Amino acid sequence: MRLVFLGPPGAGKGTQAKTLADQHGWPHLSSGDILRAEAKAGSPLGKKASSFMEAGKLVPDDLIVDLMVDRVTRPDCRNGFLLDGFPRTAPQAEALDTALGGRKVALDAVIYFACGDAAVLQRITGRRTCPQCGGVYHVQALRPRVEGVCDRCGAALVQRKDDSEAVVAQRLATYRLQTEPLIEYYRDRNVLRQIDAEQSIEAINAELAGILTKVSAREP
Ligand code: AMP
Repeated sequence: MRLVFLGPPGAGKGTQAKTLADQHGWPHLSSGDILRAEAKAGSPLGKKASSFMEAGKLVPDDLIVDLMVDRVTRPDCRNGFLLDGFPRTAPQAEALDTALGGRKVALDAVIYFACGDAAVLQRITGRRTCPQCGGVYHVQALRPRVEGVCDRCGAALVQRKDDSEAVVAQRLATYRLQTEPLIEYYRDRNVLRQIDAEQSIEAINAELAGILTKVSAREP
């Protein structure tokens, strides 16, 4: 299945994407994770992207589009993929449509994780991530077995620089201005499915499973 997860930062897209990718074997393509890996490796792209990321702004389209389009058109994505955090602007969405259309395929669904600002703030400021394997935790809602330590690889968990309260406000403003218009973009193309992302992780997971069953049966 070819899926896009759309929604504000902290809505739970990454958490759900990791679970689904593990269950179905679809590649999980998180543009944020890819950019953080580039930044960590000190590549020219990573260096250019870092200042935008730390300020809570989007990196320019020309830095991200080719990278992500190249990724979704690789052989491991032939039977499906899960895009998380891309596209985030209208030009990115158009570039994705063009790339998929050129291969005579299309998105099966865009899942919109609807989540208000208060919940976003609470989720992001409590989020802790594993710098080694990308595992995501929360100080209340998703605690690791041993405090401060990743369950999967044992690395020490950290708070992402851009998960601080000051940067979250900017990320939300960026989301509302540049990414929210994609809800209408995909609704107009009849691929949008909405999910209540303020529920618990388990409830979101169950709602998502129901939606995916309908998508694969081509039910409304
Ligand atoms: P995320 O992990 O998805 O919250 O992304 C972290 C940061 O990476 C964002 O705040 C942006 O600076 C950058 N980023 C991730 N995906 C994109 C994208 N599709 N377009 C532009 N910037 C992005």
